[in-house]
Amino acid sequence: MAFIDAALAAAAAGARPLVSSTARRAAAQLSCAAYSAAGGDIEDSPVPRRSLLARFRERRALAITDITATEWCEKQMEFVLEHGKPERTEAMKAGSERQAQLEQEVVERVEVTIRSAEDLWAVKFMNFIMGTNQLMFDGITREIPVFQSGYEAFYLGNILLCRSDCKSYHCRIGVVEGSWMIGIIDEIRMPIDDISFQPILVDTKTRVRPTIPSEAQKRNGRLQLMCYKYLWDNLIAEKFPAENFFSYSDLDPNYLLSDDVKQYISSLGFNAKTFEDVLNYFKATCHTLPRSGESLLLRYELQSDHSLLEEYQFTNDARWFKDQIQEVLSFWQGSREPKFVTEEERWKCSFCKFASKCPMIASTSRC
Ligand code: SF4
Repeated sequence: MAFIDAALAAAAAGARPLVSSTARRAAAQLSCAAYSAAGGDIEDSPVPRRSLLARFRERRALAITDITATEWCEKQMEFVLEHGKPERTEAMKAGSERQAQLEQEVVERVEVTIRSAEDLWAVKFMNFIMGTNQLMFDGITREIPVFQSGYEAFYLGNILLCRSDCKSYHCRIGVVEGSWMIGIIDEIRMPIDDISFQPILVDTKTRVRPTIPSEAQKRNGRLQLMCYKYLWDNLIAEKFPAENFFSYSDLDPNYLLSDDVKQYISSLGFNAKTFEDVLNYFKATCHTLPRSGESLLLRYELQSDHSLLEEYQFTNDARWFKDQIQEVLSFWQGSREPKFVTEEERWKCSFCKFASKCPMIASTSRC
């Protein structure tokens, strides 16, 4: 099976900036000033504070890695947004290489020229279709993209994603617009017991040292897999809001796909002329897929030799997941100040590239 290499193309073709990068930077600087000026009660603030969602994820999907990085340390996430990601460590690079290796075991990548955002999304949808076909026929697939409107995915209780710049803390639904969530599931397996027909979602983490992961690391992994489960189950439950998707992403359903993309889709046995044709195939595929199983699997491998350190199987916990998401989204919505790590998890600070800037470190070293 061949997969189109969409990830790299995303950077080139996916971006359709609505404003210039200079204007965006200026707006971000203004927002930073507003943010630091706005201490205490938001309603008393003289300067409207834009949420991090509005400042940094406008017209962009919120990635599952945004969610897990926020759960790890909200203050660190804020630093990343405002100062950029720190340089990748050797361990991170080795982790990515291992992910690529695992992917190559079951997926052949091919290059296709992408000429527009519609082309790019058509390719992502085809990746999903081909990957899930592989899952059904071969029992395994890797690197499957999943996406869903945040409004659909996270309308759990009273949480709504507010992207407005409203001053009022209570005005959560002043201007509400669904944000889109996106993630790539490491691996999906069909159970081998023939009893259950529900796919198992799997995530593989690599570790530099042969140690068992801490509870904080496992908790973060649990949240990640529960996010994927939520996106997968929503996608296949006929909830894909196509109209919302077109308007949010500023995509034209009638767009005529480029010749390269059409040709590739045809080589996979599909006949698509417009972007909407691909979306229709995607929706039809989703309707044939089963919900994912309640049991989720985290695998921990040693980086040096890929030996298995631990397989950690756990059960989805919808209530816990909802609470975690509400907590994370209240940070992104700017409903409150970012939190630091708890005292028990201060060890995270010794791996944090922003420790020298962090007010918590400054205050503890003064004590
Ligand atoms: S130093 Fe610790 S509390 Fe501060 S941002 Fe880094 S991880 Fe978070």
